[in-house]
Amino acid sequence: VPLAFVCGGGRLESEGVHMKGSEAMERTADLRLVVFNKTGTVTNGNLQIKKIYPTQEFSEKNCLALAAAAEQLSQHPIARAIASACQEKLPKIEEFEEFPGRGVRARIGDHVLLVGNRKLMVSRGVKGLPDIDGTVVYIACEGEHIGVIELEDTVRPSAADAIKKIKDQGVERTVLITGDAETPTQRIANAAGIDTVHCGLMPEEKQAKLDFMMRTIPTDGTTAYVGDGVSDIEQLKMADVGVAMGTRGSRYSADAANILITANDLSGLGEAVQVCKTTHGVAM
Ligand code: ADP
Ligand code: MG
Repeated sequence: VPLAFVCGGGRLESEGVHMKGSEAMERTADLRLVVFNKTGTVTNGNLQIKKIYPTQEFSEKNCLALAAAAEQLSQHPIARAIASACQEKLPKIEEFEEFPGRGVRARIGDHVLLVGNRKLMVSRGVKGLPDIDGTVVYIACEGEHIGVIELEDTVRPSAADAIKKIKDQGVERTVLITGDAETPTQRIANAAGIDTVHCGLMPEEKQAKLDFMMRTIPTDGTTAYVGDGVSDIEQLKMADVGVAMGTRGSRYSADAANILITANDLSGLGEAVQVCKTTHGVAM
């Protein structure tokens, strides 16, 4: 075992980066394409409510309370933001369903609530949805549109430096993929220095997109997928190097990933690539 492996490994551990084995390190040393998920990966996932657009019969407060009631059992960052913005005591949910990449359905007493994106609403026949250019969720009660909540996420302060660092280490292409809308996604990509975005993707479309990129983007190196490890298991497995970020990740994502970043920060990624390059170089 080369000395750099030991030293580098120790330095990474102290920064909250766990590499699973020397094969992961070798593949990381050859990275050319890095695909990032947005929410909770490149952004911090602590969304703020920017604006509430109730329909005529509702107030902003009503809209928020209904959305929070429906979202109380979801761990999605959007759900957490909505629930924590609501001061009201929330009613008990009798039925709850979560649709990955779409939203939630909850029954409270006789009322059926839907909170989610346009795809969810359209699939349930909800009509009269306004067009708002941003990160938005629609709220429907008994199949009627009752309002929109616009949210805003923040790029991680460490993202731009980490991405510059991996590019300096030989990564040729960086891509951001997300279920979110184009305008906020482009804003995050610009702030982080990520070259390409693919937005509005359902979970299975993200997987297909990663597969497509791995097969069609000509590089002589490896591909990493960096995700939050909750809805990203398949991509973590598919990539040559799966990187699971943050502390929300499950045991399953820990199994699927080759690198775990437990620090709530992206800078460990830049460090990891640098250490692997150095180690690999010494090992050769
Ligand atoms: P990302 O790709 O940015 O990680 P997700 O795939 O987790 O995003 O979610 C994509 C979209 O699905 C969100 O932007 C939102 O519109 C919708 N969505 C998913 N889960 C929820 C939820 N619990 N409540 C409302 N909307 C949701
Ligand atoms: Mg996500």
